[in-house]
Amino acid sequence: MTAQPNSPEARDIAYHLHGYTDARKHDEAGPLVIARGDGIYVEDIHGNRYIEAMAGLWSVALGFSEPRLVAAATKQMSTLPFYHSFTHKSHGAVIDLAEKLVTMAPVPMSKVFFTNSGSEANDTAMKLIWYRSNSLGQPQRKKIISRMRGYHGVTIASASLTGLPNNHRSFDLPIANVLHTSSPHHYKEAKPGESEEDFATRLAEDLEALIQREGPDTIAAFFGEPVMGAGGVVVPPRTYWQKIQAVLTRYDILLVADEVICGFGRTGKMFGSQTYDMKPDMMIMSKQLSSSYLPISALMINEKVYGPIADESHRIGTLGHGFTAGGHPVAAAVALETLKIIDERGLVAHAAEVGARMQTGLRRFADHPLIGEVRGVGLIAAIELVADKETRKGLDPVGKLGGLVNGLLQKNGVISRNMGDALAFCPPLIITATEIDDLLSRLGRALDEAASQLELK
Ligand code: PMP
Repeated sequence: MTAQPNSPEARDIAYHLHGYTDARKHDEAGPLVIARGDGIYVEDIHGNRYIEAMAGLWSVALGFSEPRLVAAATKQMSTLPFYHSFTHKSHGAVIDLAEKLVTMAPVPMSKVFFTNSGSEANDTAMKLIWYRSNSLGQPQRKKIISRMRGYHGVTIASASLTGLPNNHRSFDLPIANVLHTSSPHHYKEAKPGESEEDFATRLAEDLEALIQREGPDTIAAFFGEPVMGAGGVVVPPRTYWQKIQAVLTRYDILLVADEVICGFGRTGKMFGSQTYDMKPDMMIMSKQLSSSYLPISALMINEKVYGPIADESHRIGTLGHGFTAGGHPVAAAVALETLKIIDERGLVAHAAEVGARMQTGLRRFADHPLIGEVRGVGLIAAIELVADKETRKGLDPVGKLGGLVNGLLQKNGVISRNMGDALAFCPPLIITATEIDDLLSRLGRALDEAASQLELK
């Protein structure tokens, strides 16, 4: 990286992170300013309407105009607008939400700790893992393994877990004790002709080699998103989680499932852990938990994790960790109502059904000259854009083609997001079959316009 601070090149790189390719053009145009939303749509200040095909930031499960969430917030605001969970205090909304989450858990879970963002929840997970190792008399067991391309947030610990170079570069990250193993991106990282199963076997071997190199008794936990989101919507290759979990079990390493995007129906089951038969010891949840109407996140832990933490805090006399707004009653009330609506309207089964329609529809573009790969599960997907199917290359630099198609898609009334040259689709869970078809036909137009601009046939 040689760009000078504040130079046009540096701004290009910075904007690149957010999916833009021409920083100067965007500086002149300014951001797209959104004024209101209804259902799966948002409208900008000029009255242009868009399908919000990213559900905001992978998060607005119930769309942009759910009156029951407004009512739940209003009711809680007027009853108890704030209380905390420190010094042996609690309140009804957070107790009910913790109990609800434990009953929903795909594997036996014991306790829930509330935070305000996915990053804070991952930070808390890391701190509690270290606290637990100390409690167990294993002060050397502090290393955490996550994956290249993984995304876990941007605070010092969670950005360290994140495996994307732009979240580390110039931030002096990652911190010590965080290790990254290979990414499970078959299209990008498999060897020519390597099957998904063989690729998964190689990734499990890579993980085991890393554990051996570092010393098995120094490794405390492995963090992973069931399906990677910000790293480009990376669906694990067949047999991946089964093989990774076998290695973790062999060395008694905790599995932390970061369900911040996958949780609450996104992959067509309630949790991504169910879609991939994962048995996590800890789960991180946020985003769809409250449909993102208010900030809330949660860390759920099993008894194996909780026991030693409780012992240590009894020895010390307190658990010296917590956030003022953690488990905020208004956010907790909105989360409870969100979960009730997801349940009442059968939105998990609905996501599986309309998700299948979206996946099939996207795969119909597989022969388009600009499409290298279509991947996804349930209501989350990406198309990998290429200018040359043989070499699998886009335009130079990476992200230029993604930015071009993303811009054309926006002109066609759809908000997506390009991560490099992968264009993501993660619409609200309430999207209907007709709205999916509309989204697909707008995408078809944008792809054809891009191909004709680039003179590809
Ligand atoms: N984990 C995952 C899997 C995420 O996708 C995100 C956010 N995109 C985070 C953690 C961090 O959440 P937040 O932005 O709320 O800190």
